Amino acid sequence: MPPASRPVGVLGGTFDPIHYGHLRPALEVLELLDLAEVRFIPCRIPAHRDTPSISAEQRLELVRLATAGQPSFVADDRELRRPGPSYMVDTLASLREEIGVAPLCLIVGGDAFRELHTWRRWQELTDLAHLVVMQRPGASQALLPPALEDFIAPRVIQEPAALRGQPAGRVLFQPVTQLAISATQIRRLLAQGQSIRYLLPEAALAYIHDRALYRSDASPTSAT
Ligand code: ATP
Repeated sequence: MPPASRPVGVLGGTFDPIHYGHLRPALEVLELLDLAEVRFIPCRIPAHRDTPSISAEQRLELVRLATAGQPSFVADDRELRRPGPSYMVDTLASLREEIGVAPLCLIVGGDAFRELHTWRRWQELTDLAHLVVMQRPGASQALLPPALEDFIAPRVIQEPAALRGQPAGRVLFQPVTQLAISATQIRRLLAQGQSIRYLLPEAALAYIHDRALYRSDASPTSAT
């Protein structure tokens, strides 16, 4: 059997803006699962929520700034290069073409995971990647929507090492330090003129302040 290659991690999101609630759990997943890298992939047009208040290019730039100092964190612009809404199933297919048979891990937060059955062609996601759910330590998986529960149950594994044995198809619930930070909270604080310091990296904070992003008096595209 050929030696198992290190999995590639994918964290997709709106990143409106990126914050430590994304970065710290992703770093723990990188290390605990011994991933080759984590690709942060901002969506161009979110499929499941309102239009973000800053441009996709600005969200990508924030991801670049926030991940710059961390080896194995990669800002990936593929969804910005694709027209139309950003569907994760298309993103995974394009990554799969690029990396061949290496294991691919789609990393999602517990909140995003509970909505998985609403994603486009969601049952194909595990044909393309493993699923790694970032969980608060001790969190229960109770009360998942039945369609999701039935789909996930036969795929769940307990040990990260099992992700290396095949390119896709397994589901791992990975406890990580969870920080109760959300992009919504950051946008709200900025709109109210309050500080966002220590919620996201300084370089991202400086970019937001320099361009007066997310201020209640700025229109979606005026803050460039
Ligand atoms: P918003 O508040 O605008 O909904 P968000 O902070 O949840 O945004 P997203 O870009 O929507 O950020 O999230 C991208 C991914 O990161 C999702 O899988 C989400 O579940 C996960 N995530 C977001 N915030 C956290 C957090 N504090 N801890 C763990 N995972 C998170």
